[in-house]
Amino acid sequence: MAKRDYYEVLGVSKSADDAEIKKAYRKMALKYHPDKNPDNPEAEKQFKEAAEAYEVLSDANKRARYDQFGHDGMKGGFGGGGGGMNMDDIFSQFGDIFGGAFGGGGGFGGFGGGGGQARRTKGSNLRIKVKVTLEEIAKGTQKKIKVFKLVQAEGVTYSTCSTCNGAGQVRRVTNTILGQMATTSTCPTCHGTGKTVGSKPKDADEHGLKRKEEVVTIDIPKGVEDGMQLRVSGKGNAGPYGGIPGDLLVMIEEEEHETLKRNGQNLHYELYVSFLDAALGSEAQIPLIEGKAKIKIDPGTQSGKILRLKNKGLPSVNSYGTGDLLVSISVWTPQKLTSEERSLLESLRDSDNFVPNPTKKDKGFFQKVKEMFS
Ligand SMILES: [Zn+2]
Repeated sequence: MAKRDYYEVLGVSKSADDAEIKKAYRKMALKYHPDKNPDNPEAEKQFKEAAEAYEVLSDANKRARYDQFGHDGMKGGFGGGGGGMNMDDIFSQFGDIFGGAFGGGGGFGGFGGGGGQARRTKGSNLRIKVKVTLEEIAKGTQKKIKVFKLVQAEGVTYSTCSTCNGAGQVRRVTNTILGQMATTSTCPTCHGTGKTVGSKPKDADEHGLKRKEEVVTIDIPKGVEDGMQLRVSGKGNAGPYGGIPGDLLVMIEEEEHETLKRNGQNLHYELYVSFLDAALGSEAQIPLIEGKAKIKIDPGTQSGKILRLKNKGLPSVNSYGTGDLLVSISVWTPQKLTSEERSLLESLRDSDNFVPNPTKKDKGFFQKVKEMFS
């Protein structure tokens, strides 16, 4: 099929100047735009035809060649062999055509008031785990931890990104229901930094960074809990291209205590007493996070009784106040008896006082915990 004359396509005379040609093309492009003519192959054909005509007529050299040789003069060049332009080519052309109409006025000066300033890249976050003991949690602590983090390698040179000329952003026209919108997006080549790596040492990565062992000092506040994450800003991986470093994310791993169990701010301790001590009354030593406490076992103490040591728990990470230490008493039953012990106990077995009396039994463990916290 013979190609239509480019002047005819745009509806301009052979003597039309650049402004007329541009104006005519704009009109055609808006009229036949695929967004306004969905599923209309005829419109798409016109749209492509207009784009091809504009491509030639807007270029002084191509236009002169076309004027002299017609479509034959275009062979081997752009818009020659009948394939025409693809949509991407057409849309990339729109930046020039519609630039003035959509703010920004061309160039990169218009973005976000930044005067074309490239974005400073933030380094990635570095995650580490830190083990802390209950003793450390009770007071807060400072840890020196070895980390392997990305740092700026020495001897790296940077050059201005050629895709965006250092602006960090590229401009493109996208289609919306309202027509074309010029938008800016992060430059795909330099990821917004405006720079690319020129030369770098062998051990550096594509961004001019390398891993290096470093010791970081981390302040761990009192009261932290297993699984909590602390954020130390600016102590993560270096930001490439002179950007700002990422954060160091510290995951708290609580080490189990030998004798104390944690439940929020409270601590639990299970105290075993012999049934003689439980019956006769006694004293016992309770281990604390720091030091020991002496407690009194009243005569007739039942298994399951809970004693509360106020403020002997852990501090809160967010507020004032300290938890308690709850001591639950378990009466220990001997597992091996000598024959002498056996006969002594047997002589007691029939005594009324050694027969369990459920009606006088102490309240159950869960009932008491419930009461303590209600
Ligand atoms: Zn770039």
